[in-house]
Order: sequence, then structure tokens, then C-alpha cells
Amino acid sequence: MELLKDYIRKYGNVPNDNVLKVDSFLNHQIDTNLMMELAKDFKEHFKDKKITKILTIETSGIAPSVFLGYLLNVPVVFMKKNSSAILDQNFYHTTVHSFTKNIDYDLILSKKYINEDDHVIFIDDFMANGEACLGALRIIKEANAHVSGIGIVIEKSFQNGRKLVEEKGYDIYSQVRIKSLRKETITFVDEK
Ligand code: 5GP
Repeated sequence: MELLKDYIRKYGNVPNDNVLKVDSFLNHQIDTNLMMELAKDFKEHFKDKKITKILTIETSGIAPSVFLGYLLNVPVVFMKKNSSAILDQNFYHTTVHSFTKNIDYDLILSKKYINEDDHVIFIDDFMANGEACLGALRIIKEANAHVSGIGIVIEKSFQNGRKLVEEKGYDIYSQVRIKSLRKETITFVDEK
């Protein structure tokens, strides 16, 4: 998505060879015009799919998801991170490893909000090693819901996530794919 590439080129920071920071439009401050454009792009991509719910992860998946949920007129559910205090039978939960924080955490989701009648699109801000996405897929499976699609705003294609998720038989739609962040230079998959 060219608009998103322009934002990344203009506002993205590269603190090291593996991490892209986009705090000024997605991860801290949120650019609402851009969020709407991301949502329109997801809507167009998934236009042939049956969708009853958008599933994402707090915090940074919520903004693009809410705009998409609004356009599709379906609810957005976000999985919460951690809190062992509410690991009871009313919640689905799964443990994932955080790429950015290098810690394990639990993703939890109330059983009230996803069930076997749901056709779910999973949306997240970044894909790195695919841990968050694979965790979401485990939870959707446990709920006996149907996966209608996976939408990622920024995929770091030099990491393992896409491969691991595709090996499980799922397609991923990423709005931009980053080939490399080496030497503080952002290179996209479809450019030299
Ligand atoms: P994964 O689970 O695919 O390894 O990592 C994806 C999650 O880690 C995303 O939900 C995102 O919050 C975070 N993440 C991974 N890489 C980056 C990055 O380069 N920049 C930012 N801002 N977040 C990242």
C-alpha cells in the first residue's frame, strides 16, 4: 500500500536492525485519516469473505480494527494481555512470546465474544515471528470459530512469522512488507 509506505519512509524510525518504530501514526499517536485508509484497503481485500467479527490484540491492533469494524458494521474484539487473575473457565487463554519485550505473556479472551457461529478476521499492527498471530489462531480454533482472513499492517518479512503461519495453511494479507531494516535503511519487499 503506497500511502503506508510513504508514512513509513517519512515517519518511521529504525532503532536497530530488527525493529521499526512508528509511534507518530500507529503505536503511540494515531493518525485517524491513515487508519481509515488502512481499513478501506482491508475491506477491499477481504470483500469476498464472510465476516462477523474482527479480532485483534491490545493495544496497537485496536485502531485499524475499529475503523474496519465500522466500515463492515461488525464488532471488534480485542484479546487482552496477561492478568493471571482472570484465567478461569470463562476465558480462552494462550501463552505467547513477545518479540519486542522478550517476555512470555498470556492472551485472554472472554468466551462471550467469539463462538462457533463467528467468521473472524484477525488484524494486527505488526508481524515479526508470528507468535501473536499463532496465539490468536489457537484461540479462534478453541472457540470453534471460522478464520476468514489475517490482515497485518506491517510485516517484517525478514522474520519468520509469515512462514510459520502459512505452514499452518493460512493466507496472510500484509499492507506493506519490509525486506530489511539494516543500517537504519527501510527496504520494502517490492523494491531494490
Ligand atoms: P510477533 O508476535 O509476530 O513476533 O510480533 C508481533 C507483535 O510484536 C505485534 O503485535 C507488535 O506489537 C510487536 N512488534 C513486533 N515487531 C515490532 C516492530 O518492529 N515494531 C513495533 N512497533 N512493534 C513490533
